[in-house]
Amino acid sequence: MNPRFKIELACPKCESYCKVNSEERTEEFVVRGNKISISGEVDVCANCGTIFWTDKYDALMKSAYEEYKKGNGLLSSDEIRQIRENYGLSQDLFASILGIGSASIQRYETGAVQTPVYDGIIREAHNAPQLLKLLEKNRNNISPKDYTLAKINIERNIGPRISPLRGYLDYELINNSSPSLWNGNRVFSHEKFQSVLAHTLFRLLNKEAYITKLNKLFFFIDFAMYKAHGYSITGLHYVRWEYGPVPAGRISYYLYDYAEELGIVLIRENEREDGISRILFLNNISIPNTLNADEMEIVEEVLLKIGQLSAKALSGKSHKERAWIETSPNEKISYSFAECIHIA
Ligand SMILES: [Zn+2]
Repeated sequence: MNPRFKIELACPKCESYCKVNSEERTEEFVVRGNKISISGEVDVCANCGTIFWTDKYDALMKSAYEEYKKGNGLLSSDEIRQIRENYGLSQDLFASILGIGSASIQRYETGAVQTPVYDGIIREAHNAPQLLKLLEKNRNNISPKDYTLAKINIERNIGPRISPLRGYLDYELINNSSPSLWNGNRVFSHEKFQSVLAHTLFRLLNKEAYITKLNKLFFFIDFAMYKAHGYSITGLHYVRWEYGPVPAGRISYYLYDYAEELGIVLIRENEREDGISRILFLNNISIPNTLNADEMEIVEEVLLKIGQLSAKALSGKSHKERAWIETSPNEKISYSFAECIHIA
């Protein structure tokens, strides 16, 4: 600190601004009726020695609270914070799951003493299956999005680790969690997506395709299915991008990355004149086929008719669809346009 600007504080005893000294003191605090002495450095009035209530005094007081918690078998502030952060949960969400006020969690993490009952509840949260039970119990007080986020994060602490990529996709696709005109009356299914992906690549020349091409084929397959049967196959929503419809919009790449993580495909990057393109190769066709007869029929039909078109040709074709023409740029495409989808 620049000595010329040494801070002066208002001293209640001297009734004036006084210079500040640092001193080692032993202070006695009363926590829940217990006297606890703590030694440490504090800021004092250079004139009369009165202690100023600065960060240093605050820290001393917090030590007294931590000392009390330790002596009474209660979780420390750090331990509470660690339990929560282990699940990657915000204070608000963690509190909602436990069914206690978020202000309480915030106070406990910054020093306040929790009651033995609350201590017991937070201790239970240390056990992931137990926390999942609490999540179910207090589900009504949690938004659907937060509920799914919490479930993913807590389950990550149980049994085999869930891929972070899968967790991210599930989180991003939560808005798809109830059937609507945006997902073709179907909740998104990883298994269906992977089956369509594997089957499509299997039918294509050299069992490979550019992602830009796959994106459009998925669109035609899902919309053709909806036109014929009133529901999509994958449950994906599509966003109207410049070159055509893209499944799940900005997270489309991660759908393919996850398929690679599962060993279904290999992804290679090709440098082309217009930039880097990603190309997918079918790696493993032995994944279980989750498509029913109706779905298989649609996939086969679409691939037979337009499967060998280039990405560019498919892009041009999609630009003639009302689904693309009548949807604003970067907006979700309604499956209500499926009735006029044209495959041949
Ligand atoms: Zn003073």
